[in-house]
Amino acid sequence: MTDRKFIETRVCIDDDFGPFDCKLNPENRWNGWLSPYFTLDTTRELSAQTLRMADEYGYDCVSTIHVIDGFEDSRDTVHIIEGGLNRDSDDGEPNTIAVRIRWRNVGRDAVAAVSFSSATPKDRKAARRRKATGHGARRTVVVHVRWQWLHEGGDIPANVVPLSRDGLYGIGGWEWTWHFAGWWCACGADWDWHETTCTNCDLTRDTQPGKKPCDCGCDPEQGVTGEYDLESEASRAHLARTGRYLRWSESDAQPTL
Ligand SMILES: [Zn+2]
Ligand SMILES: [Zn+2]
Repeated sequence: MTDRKFIETRVCIDDDFGPFDCKLNPENRWNGWLSPYFTLDTTRELSAQTLRMADEYGYDCVSTIHVIDGFEDSRDTVHIIEGGLNRDSDDGEPNTIAVRIRWRNVGRDAVAAVSFSSATPKDRKAARRRKATGHGARRTVVVHVRWQWLHEGGDIPANVVPLSRDGLYGIGGWEWTWHFAGWWCACGADWDWHETTCTNCDLTRDTQPGKKPCDCGCDPEQGVTGEYDLESEASRAHLARTGRYLRWSESDAQPTL
């Protein structure tokens, strides 16, 4: 890692995006939010989630991530990214961006190898006519489009996400509200994903007992710290059997409901 402060963890944005495995420097905060770096596979998943979000809520209010695949020996291509209709314009003109990729230069500097413009009929024709084919090493261009700024004038609000030295894509840093994804311990404590040991009990993230159905009358909902009896023999036996401690108010002897 070029940044020795990087940790492996998992992030999300509420229920909208993620949770995704990533690497990040937990000290690099923007208003408290995180700046994660993702593998290409995760970037593809994130891309799919942004496109689903855009389809659902409209492109006007979201940013989308696009993964474009080619080869080091592909001839230059043009790609049209469609962003639905512009709801702010009377005639509902389509939001479209043309992405020109000089594949031979992508390996050296993907940012410099790509340019953006409004999509002309000529661009559409070029996009239909030529696909990024080749026999050489695979190349990938990751594009971030901020549709909400498309009609504000000025440059096309899109950029290439550069590949970091360790082969990851930093997406949404200092811009999106990424926060740590968490996990619940059976004891009721909740932890950030990379905090793998629960200091409230002797379980870890990866040794959580599987939850099994129980007919003793216990509440299967996840409780919070302090709700559970972590000490008694009966509670620990219940944990071993069902994956759940007993709440203080519960006992294994309760009649079946
Ligand atoms: Zn615990
Ligand atoms: Zn039970």
